[in-house]
Amino acid sequence: MQDVVVASGNPHKVEEVRSVLGALGWRVLSLRDVGAGDAPEPVENGTTFAENARIKALAYASLVGRLVLADDSGLVVDALGGEPGVHSARWAGVDGDRATRDAANNAKLLARLAGVPDAQRTARFVCSMCVGGRDGTVIAQSEGVFHGWIGHEARGGNGFGYDPLFRVRSTDVSGAELTPQQKNALSHRGSATRAIAHSLARLASVAR
Ligand code: IMP
Repeated sequence: MQDVVVASGNPHKVEEVRSVLGALGWRVLSLRDVGAGDAPEPVENGTTFAENARIKALAYASLVGRLVLADDSGLVVDALGGEPGVHSARWAGVDGDRATRDAANNAKLLARLAGVPDAQRTARFVCSMCVGGRDGTVIAQSEGVFHGWIGHEARGGNGFGYDPLFRVRSTDVSGAELTPQQKNALSHRGSATRAIAHSLARLASVAR
């Protein structure tokens, strides 16, 4: 069994990745598991999800000397010209714990879309992933997209971030109403993880 360290402090993300890669025979470790739980976060100053994923994967891979998988993800809303995009995590500019930031981001999203009809509320989650090798090189990259639209009220208790407002395309089901298994089957992170697992399997000998 091969190890891969997931460079994220978000336990939801680590679990989502673990449930896909674990089923494919990978042992998924957190930064804390490898003694890097308190490592300073690299500055994510890229202008695309892919660039930010690469920055994180390479910085942590060099730091811990292991295979490291990093992702950068966010919500792209058509009626807002692609916002919040790479700024999704702190879009509302509110400090505090994750729940506080998520609540402020969701309130801002509803306010910015006030009066926008359903047909123009299309949106997608995007997830870029990068696996960095212990020598600081890119081993694999992937991207996944989850299409949907933005509802008019928060619904459901699962997931995180914008999940309560996000509606799965062609349904009125929110991301937060999906079970973790259902979300993984549909989501940007699930698709990106399956794609990167496929690349890793092909490159297993190099990665080792
Ligand atoms: P990251 O941790 O820098 O990748 O920030 C991603 C941000 O995008 C999160 O803090 C959420 O606000 C949002 N986001 C990404 N993926 C999801 C998801 O699966 N559900 C809900 N929100 C998400």
